[in-house]
Amino acid sequence: MARDEPTSHHTGGSISIVGLRKEFEGVTAVDGIDLDIKPGEFFTLLGPSGCGKTTTLRMLAGFEQPTDGKILLDGVDVAQTPAHKRPVNTVFQSYALFPHLDVERNVAYGLRWRKDLDKSTRASRVAKALDLVQLGGYGKRRPHQLSGGQQQRVALARALVLEPAVLLLDEPLGALDAKLRHSLRAELTGLQREIGITFVFVTHDQEEALEMSNRLVVMDGGRIMQLGTPEEVYREPHTEFVADFLGVANLLDVECEPGGGLTRSVRFGEFVLEAQAPSGHEAGPGRAVIRPECVELVEAGLTGANRLPGMIDRTVFLGSTTQVMVRLPQGGLVQSLITNAAGSCSFTIGQPVTVCLPSDALRVLAASPEHHVAYAETA
Ligand code: ATP
Repeated sequence: MARDEPTSHHTGGSISIVGLRKEFEGVTAVDGIDLDIKPGEFFTLLGPSGCGKTTTLRMLAGFEQPTDGKILLDGVDVAQTPAHKRPVNTVFQSYALFPHLDVERNVAYGLRWRKDLDKSTRASRVAKALDLVQLGGYGKRRPHQLSGGQQQRVALARALVLEPAVLLLDEPLGALDAKLRHSLRAELTGLQREIGITFVFVTHDQEEALEMSNRLVVMDGGRIMQLGTPEEVYREPHTEFVADFLGVANLLDVECEPGGGLTRSVRFGEFVLEAQAPSGHEAGPGRAVIRPECVELVEAGLTGANRLPGMIDRTVFLGSTTQVMVRLPQGGLVQSLITNAAGSCSFTIGQPVTVCLPSDALRVLAASPEHHVAYAETA
């Protein structure tokens, strides 16, 4: 489920990244990024390991100096601003709490640079931050007396106690078990909505990114592959890489017919299908993508637009859905995801069916020669 529009309770928190690059000896970690993040946005950098997302975040934080490019926070170039003077704070995957200090003191540590605050202001800031992360009664506990999720919330409070305009989060749920990750996702987005500050969130987990973000970028090789809302990027991937990274993608080898307009005819073996195509897409061989939940299966023998004959190859019961693999006349397999209302999915192996590939869900992809990822099963 995608997020609503961001609601900022603050005037600050905008980020502009212009031509940002970072080279380590012989490695280009970030290869020219341009990005505008709005105040109050929950913005995610998503991508596989090594794509440059952490390096981007570390440059925002001030822990790493860019090789080239600019970072503007609320319009101010922060190139010369040291990390502790930037209006940003960071939460890491490893919460790194001090084991010998209680929760309150761990949180108060976040205020170590603020020599101007008196004792009572510090105490009230700490109490407010702990309330925000729902640890109001836990101030006197030591970290080992808390669960993993509670420890991560202390780390969050330690970052929030400074009341930053931007919070940077580097895989903050990564160290937690699956169930806790799920419940903390909702907690974190609720918290972000409540305080209204900008969150820049780094993850390699597509589900997490889709569920939590207002907008996201998919990164690879130090570059932005695509930017959009979760729904846009999931439903309208531009490349095979993005289609594959954001969930299961059926890929069909097609031949795009000449023509203009957004809907184009594509040849798929002996069949002609209607598909969405990026404007100006060239005629010729290419690939089209369709998500499994958009592939419909109906009675065998029903012909019509965007319908193909198929044969059930196997089914996998997944609880709320059933994954159905269907063999197409060309020999390849296409996956259909069927929602399991009572008794609704009753296919048998070898059964002939008609496969419908609705034209509004079938998309011709832009060519991306750098990425040759295998996803459609052709066995
Ligand atoms: P992960 O999810 O694994 O942390 P990432 O997308 O955050 O990956 P980065 O940590 O930003 O990726 O790394 C991008 C590239 O830069 C990688 O190839 C990495 O090996 C390299 N890199 C990162 N930090 C350094 C460094 N200090 N010295 C040399 N190379 C580095």
